[in-house]
Amino acid sequence: MTVIQGTSFHEMWRELHPLGRHRDSGGYRRYAWTAADTECRAWFKAQAESRGLAYELDRNGNQWAWLGNPADGDAVVTGSHLDSVPDGGAFDGPLGVVSSFAALDELRARGVTFAKPLALVNFGDEEGARFGLACVGSRLTSGQLTVEQAHKLTDGDGVTLPRAMEAAGHDPDALGPDPERLDRIGAFVELHVEQGRALDLSGDRVGIASAIWPHGRWRFDFGGEANHAGTTRLVDRRDPMLPYAETVLAARREAQLAGAVATFGKLAVEPNAVNAIPSLVRGWLDSRAADQESLDTVVGGIEQAARAYAQEHGVDLDIVRESFTPVVEFDHALRDELARILGTDTDLTVPVLGTGAGHDAGILSGRIPTAMLFVRNPTGVSHSPAESATEDDCVAGVLALTDVLEGLACR
Ligand SMILES: [Zn+2]
Repeated sequence: MTVIQGTSFHEMWRELHPLGRHRDSGGYRRYAWTAADTECRAWFKAQAESRGLAYELDRNGNQWAWLGNPADGDAVVTGSHLDSVPDGGAFDGPLGVVSSFAALDELRARGVTFAKPLALVNFGDEEGARFGLACVGSRLTSGQLTVEQAHKLTDGDGVTLPRAMEAAGHDPDALGPDPERLDRIGAFVELHVEQGRALDLSGDRVGIASAIWPHGRWRFDFGGEANHAGTTRLVDRRDPMLPYAETVLAARREAQLAGAVATFGKLAVEPNAVNAIPSLVRGWLDSRAADQESLDTVVGGIEQAARAYAQEHGVDLDIVRESFTPVVEFDHALRDELARILGTDTDLTVPVLGTGAGHDAGILSGRIPTAMLFVRNPTGVSHSPAESATEDDCVAGVLALTDVLEGLACR
């Protein structure tokens, strides 16, 4: 059936490759509404126009390329994002966008007849690298981010989102929910490089997402007593660093037991002097698990251990949950449909997003049926210049997406 075998994919990949790439790090700095982002957007528009698709920039800065009449409704949409984290990899986002165009080329080469409108999309500001909030484009569209909140988003230089959009030639007064647009979509499928090693370990090129893990952040404040590091006898100390260190090890143990992840990646110490016993050690826990029960077990276990260690060392402990995102289950019917089309058993779905990072497909899942395809990442590394996928796996991803689009949108 395959005629093109990824030819157009390689061409597009080569064109996109230098845009926003930092010469020294080799990583990408495609931040929303910057010059690099504008170049990527121009590339998307050119791809749409060269295929005779109807190009559209929506009120929230998301780019669309339509085949067929959107007003017919029940559209099948595919795509991802082109922006990056600081010094991000080439694949997170662009793989989904490039694969979408390549899949359309493949469908045309197969001579299919479209029964539904098809759209390709580039969601704006997915990574949130510049304004600190991920998935701004899809959040605005679905109403999960209000215009008022969006207006307050500010980058590191004090530039607000509306001003940044304006500087890039986009009208910020247009921002707002876009329910009519979402009402016209019957299914959204996002192809993405896997951000973990599940496919590498299972030996599969492509997988289907079942869910995005529930995840949260907790702040642990261990309060002790500052004192001289040279003159204070060990038995007289109330050193909060000790229970903190034991808690880090407990987090690793609890996560391992539950098949989850738990990370203390950020730490603040007061007074933060080499020759002083700390008065305060504040550590931030990030934990994610396949389901709510596992996450509760992991975090509950860590909290319990932390309290016991704190008590043992005569240290006070405050634990505050700073943020929490419940599990995102992708649409079961659509997921099963993808599995049927790809001829795999639903039990073989990839259960895990390694980083548990959000996706536009996750944001939109509460509003429209969404699904995700993952392409194998041999090292699992993501959000880094070392992120990778082999050419063969990328082509396998394009072909899987082509099959899915044919199954969903064609006669
Ligand atoms: Zn991404």
